[in-house]
Amino acid sequence: MQGEGPLCGQRCAFVRLSRCNLACTWCDTPETWDWRRYDPAAVTVRAGVGEVADWVGGVGVDLLVLTGGEPLLQQPGLGALLDQVSAQVRVQVETNGTRVPEPGLADRVDLWVVSPKLANSGMPIERRLVPAALEALRATGRAAFKFVVSDPAVDVAEIAALVGRYGLGPVWVMPEATTPSAVVEGTAALLETAAEHGWNLSTRLHVLAGAR
Ligand code: SF4
Repeated sequence: MQGEGPLCGQRCAFVRLSRCNLACTWCDTPETWDWRRYDPAAVTVRAGVGEVADWVGGVGVDLLVLTGGEPLLQQPGLGALLDQVSAQVRVQVETNGTRVPEPGLADRVDLWVVSPKLANSGMPIERRLVPAALEALRATGRAAFKFVVSDPAVDVAEIAALVGRYGLGPVWVMPEATTPSAVVEGTAALLETAAEHGWNLSTRLHVLAGAR
């Protein structure tokens, strides 16, 4: 089940790829990249494209979500996977928006969910904002932009500035929250602001349901 963003609540096959080019302070999937805290041999499995495609086909749903980590670090493999699964499933790719998708990939993904990182991530601006990548993803005409909000009093103005500067849309905002009570509180805090700005609001179903 997709727990957040534009396709929140939809049944899906979920494939989480390891490695990331960022190291956000509040990252909720550090096991995908933080090898100081996690042993990659214990938290990852190496699987061939055919193996993953077979697994996706066996799940029996019509949506594949590819996430990470940062999945665009493994672009050749993603293209090969799409070759094998595109006829069976729609494909959503979640990315931090710092990598330009290869031409062969850009128009074959049904929905790019791009999550540019704000100052609240602790990442320097030159690492978290790559204008060429944002523009390439926006230009696909298949992208939605999802922002993680830690403190609405600070983050909303930053989101509005980025949306205006790079012409991003449609926009989703979502609370940075890893417990059910924090999700409820954070979602409520964003309700009016999202409506005022013409943005969409995402909750985090998997957290509400007791998963991380
Ligand atoms: S970009 Fe995503 S996966 Fe990478 S460190 Fe930031 S929150 Fe974690």
